[in-house]
Amino acid sequence: MNKKKLFFRLVLLMLILFSVKKVFFSYPDIITSSPEEAITDLDQLGPRTERLAHKFLEKCANEGLPVRIIETYRTKERQEYLYSLGRDIPGDVVTWTKNSKHTNRRAFDIVKDIPGQYYSDENFFRRCAEIGESIGLEAGYYWKVQDSGHFENNGLVK
Ligand SMILES: [Zn+2]
Repeated sequence: MNKKKLFFRLVLLMLILFSVKKVFFSYPDIITSSPEEAITDLDQLGPRTERLAHKFLEKCANEGLPVRIIETYRTKERQEYLYSLGRDIPGDVVTWTKNSKHTNRRAFDIVKDIPGQYYSDENFFRRCAEIGESIGLEAGYYWKVQDSGHFENNGLVK
């Protein structure tokens, strides 16, 4: 094969790989991306985490648990903004890390979708945590520093 042919084949291969990457590894544009605003779209999660989130919601719905997703993917800017709350900016400390699984598209947060009971129903969060863990999610409910509404795909369960 001459060098010219080889070159064109390489270019063709790169074009194919590039379009495959675009189809399988891109995410829809985020409409709101100011650091103060949470993104709640499931399609902003990584493919496996998105599948797990759908499965989780389905199982919760089957048991009549009113789950609402309040955050999925978090931009680096938002994570840094949240980290600065209670540190550089007045407010309560809401996160202990700059490297949350949210910024890797592998975590989502929920509340109980009933006004006045967003975080207060212990039984609700325990049952959701059990369901989450049963399908391979890690539930922040079981953490030493509890984060009841948090679920993540830690990649440990296949
Ligand atoms: Zn979270």
